[in-house]
Amino acid sequence: MSGFNFDVITLFPKAFELINNLGVITKALDKNLIDVNLHDLREYGEGSYRQVDDKPYGGGAGMVLKPEPIYKAYDSIRKSPKRKTLLMTPQGKVLKQNDLVRWSTLDQVIIICGQYEGFDERVRFLADEEISIGDYVLSGGEIPALSIINGLTRLLPGTLGDPDSLVDESHNSPLLEYPQYTRPQVFKHMKVPEVLISGDHKEIELWRKEQQLKRTYKRRRDLMKSDELKKFDFEEDDKN
Ligand code: SAH
Repeated sequence: MSGFNFDVITLFPKAFELINNLGVITKALDKNLIDVNLHDLREYGEGSYRQVDDKPYGGGAGMVLKPEPIYKAYDSIRKSPKRKTLLMTPQGKVLKQNDLVRWSTLDQVIIICGQYEGFDERVRFLADEEISIGDYVLSGGEIPALSIINGLTRLLPGTLGDPDSLVDESHNSPLLEYPQYTRPQVFKHMKVPEVLISGDHKEIELWRKEQQLKRTYKRRRDLMKSDELKKFDFEEDDKN
């Protein structure tokens, strides 16, 4: 094994073709910084129909993924000692940037994707962590798994052109990022703030910090530490 390994157990491996057309992730694959190993659940299905799902005991709508194929797929994976197994489920802990940072020091993440009405409860014993990507329900764990692969890969050394771009961004600190502008200086009568073209680095830094505080205060007050909130007194009229 070289680089960081993602091993994904899924009924829809084709969903992961997206990673071949996804900028930073594709470059990381090309540079062998990551490997994405797809384990097609169907191959571990039972009988000539390769059955992977069945009706729930006790009745109810839909189908549930059977435990045996998932365990077989899991057992087939070559495992590194520095790994975590993540189960995709809307009942899990809601994913935060800090989780991605934490996992970025491992060498392997095994991701189990559910489908249909979910999976047999006994699958949960394989998981170190149960992860949700938000309080809504998708039809399968593939998009959540892609989110984790994407968010984690860009944190790995050598993946981003400029590692400094990780420092200021939203959710890396408790504050959201400041507003960004690029050329042209005037676009549809909207001007780039003077301070950014002043060349005065001290002033720029102060302006950015203030914008971060304002933005976070307006949009995501829940993220702010209370001392940051206390020293702050904004007028509510500005559009940030
Ligand atoms: N009936 C299940 C939901 C099944 S959704 C329940 O109420 O818990 C089908 C599969 O999609 C899940 O097993 C899970 O793998 C994935 N999934 C759906 N929404 C998700 C979310 N918000 N986060 C992570 N995985 C999700």
